Amino acid sequence: MLKLGLSMIIILLSISAFPSLTSSASSEKDDVTRMSLYKKTAVVTGIPWTYLAAIDQYERQIHDEIPKGRVTAFRPDPLFWNGIDADPSFFPEGWGDNGDGNKKVDMTSDEDILWSLGKYIQSYGTTEDDIRIALWNYYKRDLTVQTIMNTAKVFNKFQTVSLKDRDFPVPLTANFSYNNTWGDARGFGGRRIHEGTDIFANYGVPVQSTTYGVIEMKGWNKFGGWRIGIRDIYNIYHYYAHLSGFEDSKQVGDVVQPGDVIGSVGSTGYGPPGTSGKFPPHLHYGMYQDNGKNEWSFDPYPYLKRWQKQAG
Ligand SMILES: [Zn+2]
Repeated sequence: MLKLGLSMIIILLSISAFPSLTSSASSEKDDVTRMSLYKKTAVVTGIPWTYLAAIDQYERQIHDEIPKGRVTAFRPDPLFWNGIDADPSFFPEGWGDNGDGNKKVDMTSDEDILWSLGKYIQSYGTTEDDIRIALWNYYKRDLTVQTIMNTAKVFNKFQTVSLKDRDFPVPLTANFSYNNTWGDARGFGGRRIHEGTDIFANYGVPVQSTTYGVIEMKGWNKFGGWRIGIRDIYNIYHYYAHLSGFEDSKQVGDVVQPGDVIGSVGSTGYGPPGTSGKFPPHLHYGMYQDNGKNEWSFDPYPYLKRWQKQAG
């Protein structure tokens, strides 16, 4: 019974992971429109466009779809602004009366909503620290604030929100093999399931980032050995484990892009720091979706297949 329950949960979670990935896709035309709205708002509020874009990018992942008639996804939480569950009036003192000159923010207008968001942040100031505090007071969640700050960093580096390239985590020229083993039982460390895909390859084969993102974690983990975690702009955490070593030039907080080498294939893990060789060398690659409340593992296999094809 327990086993059935667990596999049901896995199936449900893996299904729900897909819509958020597909709905995050936006057209190039919408991206251009979004960019111009962010930049326009930046000019009138003093908040760099990259932060406005990063907040909007984050909200694109936590809602199923973008509101009708809009290209941006940010939805002000009425309880936060009003204390009641009604269309936000934003700032009762009159901050909401901009955009198109109305007294109330038009909830269908991208411009009105972004302007109000910018004004809200501006009330804290315009430095990175000010923005961080404004975000924390709104979202009250560390991972959300960190994700938005990281995404802003990525947008700042590449100066665009259109970052759709992906790469395969090992060079296609290397000898490698992988099967769909997501959800398999695992012996070490008690009752666990296998939350990822194992890509078998030789010691020392370069491991590369599959996506644009920021390095969030780097170091030893009892199960994963030497491992790296990268958070991308779609609120997805990419986990690379059992590495034999790291790329020294890549540190926590650094921006990466698809194909950037972050380490090399090894067999570390399943013990205290430095433990190696308890299983054949392979890259364990995991993907975790965050929806603003919870984070869950989903099957990377179909994505790996797609990226392998695209890279080839
Ligand atoms: Zn694995």
